[in-house]
Amino acid sequence: MQITDLIRPNIRSLQPYSTARDEYEGELGTFLDANESPFDNGYNRYPDPHQKRLKSLLAPLKGVAMENIFIGNGSDEAIDLLFRIFCEPGRSNAISIAPSYGMYEVAADTNDVKMRKMLLNDDFSLPVGRLLEAADSDSRLLFICSPNNPTGNAFPRKEIERVVREFPGIVVVDEAYIDFSDEPGMLPILSGFPNLVVLQTLSKAWGMAGLRCGLAFASSEIIGYMNRVKYPYNINVATSAIAERLLSEPVPSHIKVIKEEREKLAEILATLPFVRKVYPSDANFLLVKVDDANALYDYLIANKIIVRNRDKVALCKGCLRMTVGTPEENLRLIQILMNYAL
Ligand SMILES: *Cc1c(COP(=O)(O)O)cnc(C)c1O
Repeated sequence: MQITDLIRPNIRSLQPYSTARDEYEGELGTFLDANESPFDNGYNRYPDPHQKRLKSLLAPLKGVAMENIFIGNGSDEAIDLLFRIFCEPGRSNAISIAPSYGMYEVAADTNDVKMRKMLLNDDFSLPVGRLLEAADSDSRLLFICSPNNPTGNAFPRKEIERVVREFPGIVVVDEAYIDFSDEPGMLPILSGFPNLVVLQTLSKAWGMAGLRCGLAFASSEIIGYMNRVKYPYNINVATSAIAERLLSEPVPSHIKVIKEEREKLAEILATLPFVRKVYPSDANFLLVKVDDANALYDYLIANKIIVRNRDKVALCKGCLRMTVGTPEENLRLIQILMNYAL
């Protein structure tokens, strides 16, 4: 498979916007090229369009080269860019598992690309055969979220690998929750698969949802196209500076706490009389099947506890999705739920 053949022709020949800062690499100089204000207030200069400093921190953390990293305004920017780079509006189609993250379909719809949603198996396992059978010559993107939102489970790497090897387009593996999983994820084998894009984010385990930093990892060819199509200054100076500081600090013990809390919470929830099933989770949330999801949701809201009602989602009838909070928050959740049981 040639990746170049999958790129939309207008994108292949795109002349990207060039910034003056692309031509001069130095940090010190008299910058009279970009019509900025010369008076320093910390933010008077345009940001680095390639986020070199941030990428130099991420590369060793993730074990990939800087040229294999794209940083976007949240993962959503990367998802949208992939549609714009690989999909011909009105003609191409994309494939995704279902239930899964809602943004894949929103991005497909805004780009006039038909999304073929393939239900997971009843046990939430990956329907490898059906995903591959859904592909035709107009299929460009295939989305697998692992660990999956909202089901919480990670798929075995061998199964994902088979999809990547056999799908005749780009496979996007969304690993937003990989830091909470014992699965290794796809990054260690990224270089073996030219049609693989791995999405991660600083929004979850790294605690930077408010900063909006989504990460994509792929071959330098794909990353090159993403850089050409993105807005030149998609990551602002303040976001970069704060993300650089937080990434330089020791890895927070928060991940360990969340994983321990997740197991404790799952155990207690399973003992409640109205809980039918707590699904195993590789993420920082639990999918919980209860007797009457809508009634319980309303009860929790009345007690100022907001969870996500997934009752209307395929395969998730009767389910609420609960994020694992601090130990204090989880205790409060359990107390309120125990009162419901009475
Ligand atoms: C939360 C989440 C993301 C992260 O999105 P950002 O835009 O990076 O905050 C990505 N994918 C999935 C499946 C998520 O649940």
